[in-house]
Amino acid sequence: MNNTVSAKRGKIEVIPVQNLPLIKKGDSLPELIIKNYSLEDGDIITIATTVYSKSKGFVKRLDSVTPCARASKIAESTGEDPRFIEIVLTESKEVLLEFPFVLSLLPCGHVGVRAGVDQSNIEDEYVILLPLDPMESANELRNSFQKITGKKVGVILTDTCGRSFRRGQTGHAIGWSGIHAIRDFRGDHDLFGHELKITEEAVIDEISGFANFLMGESNNGVPAVIFRNCEPWNGHDSLYFREDEDFIRKSLKRL
Ligand code: GDP
Ligand code: MN
Ligand code: MN
Repeated sequence: MNNTVSAKRGKIEVIPVQNLPLIKKGDSLPELIIKNYSLEDGDIITIATTVYSKSKGFVKRLDSVTPCARASKIAESTGEDPRFIEIVLTESKEVLLEFPFVLSLLPCGHVGVRAGVDQSNIEDEYVILLPLDPMESANELRNSFQKITGKKVGVILTDTCGRSFRRGQTGHAIGWSGIHAIRDFRGDHDLFGHELKITEEAVIDEISGFANFLMGESNNGVPAVIFRNCEPWNGHDSLYFREDEDFIRKSLKRL
């Protein structure tokens, strides 16, 4: 398989979606986005999970929950609001680390700090949750774009996440549809004819990373970015390690 394709097509256009309103429950993001932007077949539309969750009402009021004993104990050591930690625990399938921050596995397979629950870009007293089934959400968005515009696009739902071993957060893909997560170079040959045996490139995270650069984290008001003219790639969607292959997760559990 030759998968060395993406540099051949020429210019990739990266279009930040400006002038969207503050998103509220019931808003259709595809309708709002296509008001000012026309789409083309093959476009990849990245959307921040923050606005997707707001559009679906995946938010919670802090005063709607009562912290359990574990949440109160964790909150005491991290110095956070116990009600916030309660929500983080509720969103988590398995807690991998409690201190200095909660790191947990979510039902969708994503491992994230504070379960991806956000307190920014929403009114006081509210938090924003990650969508429970982000693959289904991305699918629904892609179908909706196709229904409204007739165009076949790819969709990535992004979130800003920390990385292990390095300072600084970057955009990560949480859900995706219409494109493969991984560009698989295994079986390809390098410039010297060596066969690549292990290289799998997480393209959707690379695209999410650049999208996040344009979105910013604070008051930019750019929750979506359109990528045009990316060469399609071959690959697969097994982004998350199976439990038995995930050595870091295993090590954390032994702590
Ligand atoms: P996250 O990375 O999904 O957690 O989202 P962020 O809170 O970092 O926001 C990403 C981008 O979306 C930033 O440019 C925010 O200013 C913008 N944003 C967040 N909420 C809204 C909203 O309701 N409307 C608009 N227009 N932009 C928003
Ligand atoms: Mn977030
Ligand atoms: Mn962000």
